[in-house]
Amino acid sequence: MGQFKPSQLSASVTTLTGVGTGLEKRLNRLAIYTVQDLLFHLPYRYLDRTRLLPIGMLQHGKEALIQGTVELTQIKFGKRRSLLCRISDGTGAVVLRFFYFNNSQQANLAKGTTIRCWGQARRGVNTFEMIHPEYQRISEAQRDQLEQTLTPVYPATEGLAQGRFRKLTDQALRILAENPQQLVELLPQKILAEYALPDLCQALQAVHRPDADTEISLLQAGTHPAQRRLAFEEFLAHHLSLRTIRRKIQSFQAPRPDSALPQADDFIHRLPFQLTGAQQTVLHEIQADLIKQQPMLRLIQGDVGSGKTVLAAIIAFQIIKSGLQVALMAPTELLAEQHFSTITQWFSNFDIRVVLLTGRLNRAKRQTIVADIASSTPLMVVGTHALFQEQVKFSRLGIVIIDEQHRFGVHQRLSLLEKGVTRTTYPHQLIMTATPIPRTLAMTVFADLDISVIDELPPGRQAVKTAVLANDKRAEIIKKITQECRQGRQVYWVCTLIDESDAIQSQAATETYEYLSEMLPDLVIGLVHGRMKSPEKEQVMSAYKSGAIHLLVATTVIEVGVDVPAASLMVIENAERLGLAQLHQLRGRVGRGSQQSNCVLMYQPPLNELARQRLQIIRSTTDGFEIAKKDMQLRGPGEIMGTRQTGLPQMRIADLIRDAALIPHVRKAAELLLEDYSDRVAAIIKRWLTDRADFGNV
Ligand code: ADP
Ligand code: MG
Repeated sequence: MGQFKPSQLSASVTTLTGVGTGLEKRLNRLAIYTVQDLLFHLPYRYLDRTRLLPIGMLQHGKEALIQGTVELTQIKFGKRRSLLCRISDGTGAVVLRFFYFNNSQQANLAKGTTIRCWGQARRGVNTFEMIHPEYQRISEAQRDQLEQTLTPVYPATEGLAQGRFRKLTDQALRILAENPQQLVELLPQKILAEYALPDLCQALQAVHRPDADTEISLLQAGTHPAQRRLAFEEFLAHHLSLRTIRRKIQSFQAPRPDSALPQADDFIHRLPFQLTGAQQTVLHEIQADLIKQQPMLRLIQGDVGSGKTVLAAIIAFQIIKSGLQVALMAPTELLAEQHFSTITQWFSNFDIRVVLLTGRLNRAKRQTIVADIASSTPLMVVGTHALFQEQVKFSRLGIVIIDEQHRFGVHQRLSLLEKGVTRTTYPHQLIMTATPIPRTLAMTVFADLDISVIDELPPGRQAVKTAVLANDKRAEIIKKITQECRQGRQVYWVCTLIDESDAIQSQAATETYEYLSEMLPDLVIGLVHGRMKSPEKEQVMSAYKSGAIHLLVATTVIEVGVDVPAASLMVIENAERLGLAQLHQLRGRVGRGSQQSNCVLMYQPPLNELARQRLQIIRSTTDGFEIAKKDMQLRGPGEIMGTRQTGLPQMRIADLIRDAALIPHVRKAAELLLEDYSDRVAAIIKRWLTDRADFGNV
């Protein structure tokens, strides 16, 4: 008699038959802890093993299930020893080819045996071949027994075979079928009916074990109603959680200034340029928020180079003059240092204290700064995530400004805000991003924020001209650099390595630096990478900014935010390895002044099709919005967007591109829930977001 185990969806996976500590660990690696987690871990692909294909109908490149009788099995010696097995079913014959095999396998495939196999057909010498197909011997009784449902293929991990995964999901589905009340339907009937969506239990059953007659192409594309239903609820959960956060924040008061919001005209008049119309519009939108009683929650969307920093400075000026403190957070030390130096300079006539707080300060310096922040002096703190550290306590934080939002998670953003919360007040928030996503998408994924758009670049900018060149043209490029620098231009040379550590990247940049120094002895060449100490980096950057350095060799530390308007040529090595968003950001480092700028994308041939298309897109346009649109089109369905590149939330099931059509409906459904079913809101959020620190309690 087996031990009694309660059937619980919320129970640990170890309550399932066959899950020991080893398997538990592997499941945990996939973020599967409970039985219910298994149900929300969806197949990413399906195989149709519900019907046999006559061997005569095999097609090159297509996967199929076939069944036949072994005619001949023999070992073929040649360049590579292999086991060949010829089977036929009367409509045709196919050869199975195994490079790895053993004697028992050969014996198993004796002439006259019936076998069923699944594999991809490839054109062979005279017949089609299948290389290393999955196969099994079929007894007389099994001849007509085929799978009843499409076969799911799960995102798995090493040491976790598909068969095992299917057995586990079988158990989980059985528990669900026996205890449907444990996974209650949270979407109102009205919504399900309006969009013709199946209920939750049906949807889960259908995605894990689709009926044999399910349209497989819909499933493969991720657009089957069952999949859409799950994606819909997930979107809704994210959206509702942001709306809940917003509501909560807006129940606080904005920080109380000493005086009404002072004008910034003095400051604006002393800037070396005039604000563009778009900058003025956005500025007014922000200022209108700041005189309200409630904390501001605003996102500024503006393409690379549209001039977001100066708006941050103007707002900081006003907040500080009203007696409060300002925190400006940047994703990299380099950018924090740059903001610090630009803003210090802009504020130099106005008796405003600006301090820099990054992870690399020495203890004594940090302590002084931390003490100042804790006193109620009005000041501006510019920093990296070091601003999150426990000991940093603002006494009168008026506003948190976050630059390049896409580099931070929602969680990081919120934890900085925590620093300014008192019992009754909550700091204003100004979030800045260059992520150019369509408005309806922005309103859904940034549902906690109001959105302002800077839709104009400062005057006199010329579009960067972009060329794509193979690596073997390096010598020509180097020659061009000399010419450019003779004309007083400045150049970036960016070394890129994807997914490599900081140390390896820095090493590669150092080598390129040495190589270029040798090739270009007449130029002053600088080097900046992530392993350098702050003062060193600052020194190099300020020398480059002042024009003392002609050519700056850099890793992608310069990718975001760096602003040296005189630089007019950028060379990017291995550009084929970078995504469109990253290329656009990097290229945005040039073309920031009024002179014509150029960008050279170097690549290592041969280019694959996707890389070729990407480089073609980046060459043909400099419009971030256009690039983002093309980027979305290039990504196949189901491909997950990297959060690092876009700042968009990472979802389990939903895909912001594939399921984009759902998005406007998600907002509508959210309204309905908040109005008429507010008791379900917390449960929906909990179902989808509990294990994510990101959306924890505010
Ligand atoms: P981003 O929006 O990418 O953060 P920045 O704030 O770094 O852009 O601004 C890009 C460059 O344009 C900076 O050198 C900045 O001083 C300059 N700039 C900003 N606004 C204007 C303007 N209205 N006219 C001319 N130059 C401007
Ligand atoms: Mg910027």
